[in-house]
Amino acid sequence: MMHNEVTVFVDRDGTLNQDPGYLSTPDGLVLYPGVVESVARLKRAGCSVVLVTNQSGIGRGYFTRANLQAIHDKLENILAQGGGGLDGIFFCPHLPDDGCDCRKPKAGLIRQAVETLSVSTVHSYMVGDKRSDMELAGTVGAIGVLVTTSPVSQEAIHAQMRGELHIESVTSTFSEAVEWILQDISKVQ
Ligand SMILES: [Mg+2]
Ligand SMILES: [Zn+2]
Repeated sequence: MMHNEVTVFVDRDGTLNQDPGYLSTPDGLVLYPGVVESVARLKRAGCSVVLVTNQSGIGRGYFTRANLQAIHDKLENILAQGGGGLDGIFFCPHLPDDGCDCRKPKAGLIRQAVETLSVSTVHSYMVGDKRSDMELAGTVGAIGVLVTTSPVSQEAIHAQMRGELHIESVTSTFSEAVEWILQDISKVQ
């Protein structure tokens, strides 16, 4: 069964790859186990897969847009070799205090994706490791899937326990998140 109308928005650092803090070179890009196969599974199921990532390291002067492009070229090559590939990459280069409308949990990156690609949020998922990813899911009406790969995910879990946040599914890895999403899709259709 194909699911062309389903969009899976994914965070990058701490979700697809280890988060060293302001990853600035392609050499530092280390994907978690199973990520390549899992993106390929989503693509085979007909989902659009769109990366949405905060990269304030640009605004802070830690690395350039060219550095980021080099990292994303490597990421796309690895995913393409695995039979997957992303439908788009959208990043926020701004600082938290810049007041932009694209730094997650603001919805600008997803708005850009909807305007630029033929994707919709009507049946969509947001996979990420941070509270801001889950808040973004709530804002755009996506189904929030938390991955607890990185320690910062605990903040989202605590926010959910306090009733400040709704997380649809808490999973331990991106592979598990994708497994959950594919099962969820098959239930609705
Ligand atoms: Mg993250
Ligand atoms: Zn921004």
